[in-house]
Amino acid sequence: MDAREVINRLKEHGYKITPQRQEIINVLVQENRHITVEDIHSKISRRYANLSMDTVYRNVGVLERLNVLSRADFGDGKGRYKLVDRERHRHHLICLKCGCSLEMDFCPLDHIDRREISDKNFHIIRHNFEIYGYCAACRGREG
Ligand SMILES: [Zn+2]
Ligand SMILES: [Zn+2]
Repeated sequence: MDAREVINRLKEHGYKITPQRQEIINVLVQENRHITVEDIHSKISRRYANLSMDTVYRNVGVLERLNVLSRADFGDGKGRYKLVDRERHRHHLICLKCGCSLEMDFCPLDHIDRREISDKNFHIIRHNFEIYGYCAACRGREG
């Protein structure tokens, strides 16, 4: 998703586009990887000295509720956020160190026996599948 699409989504749901909100969206577009609220805050606070962490948390919460952000959990109790890809249904390999993500070309649901699920009379709407590890660049740095 690009900044314009995110802003359109916000407007559709009646949210105003404040300068801070615009900055948060810009950081998410530029970074294009899973980052924490603290990361977002530290990047913007260089320009907006009085931007509070609360404001960033609130705005990230809004974007998450509008399904604009995907959240990843690296196991340290901090959510990390990245703008979702547009409409495409993709799964990712996510680096626990730098937060980059690599798209996978397959969906694991295509590789399982769906009768197991239909036997439970369950109708699937969506699913999540992410693989966590360390990218080549991050492994290289550790030697
Ligand atoms: Zn990495
Ligand atoms: Zn899938």
